[in-house]
Amino acid sequence: MGTRGREIVGMDVNQLLDLLNRAYASEWLAYYQYWLGAKVIKGPMKDAVAAELNLHAAEELNHAVLLAGRIVQLGGTPGLSPKDWFTLSPCKYEAPADAYVGVILGQNIVGEQCAISSYKQLMDTTKDKDMVTYNLALTILQQEVEHEEDLQSLEEDLKLMLQPTSR
Ligand code: FE
Ligand code: FE
Ligand code: MG
Repeated sequence: MGTRGREIVGMDVNQLLDLLNRAYASEWLAYYQYWLGAKVIKGPMKDAVAAELNLHAAEELNHAVLLAGRIVQLGGTPGLSPKDWFTLSPCKYEAPADAYVGVILGQNIVGEQCAISSYKQLMDTTKDKDMVTYNLALTILQQEVEHEEDLQSLEEDLKLMLQPTSR
């Protein structure tokens, strides 16, 4: 823990650590949802979609790395047990039980939209109070916004491919 780094935080550090650990739990669930989705996916464009899912999985894992680093800096402990992830995470885990490409894309779009709302909220909470976490949340938010658009454009491609005359 960095003592001066912790002193300059203008909000309750325990409340901040709780929010960071919730985001941390979400990132692991998002990572696994993408990683497994890429393994089981079936249907048209599955190779192109799986490549994007694998890339997003790596990026979600990196978000967990960034959050764990900030939690440790503030003197906290990243969630010790995966069994807590479901209760802590603000975003739901959507099991890829139906492997159809359109369903997997839809589930991950829901996840990204939840992530975008959560990081927007973390930015609102830390604005003018903790610049370091605010900046971290912005870095992650930029990537979640990119993820949403990547998936929605793949979903659009899939629809155009299935209904070529709708143009
Ligand atoms: Fe993420
Ligand atoms: Fe994402
Ligand atoms: Mg992408």
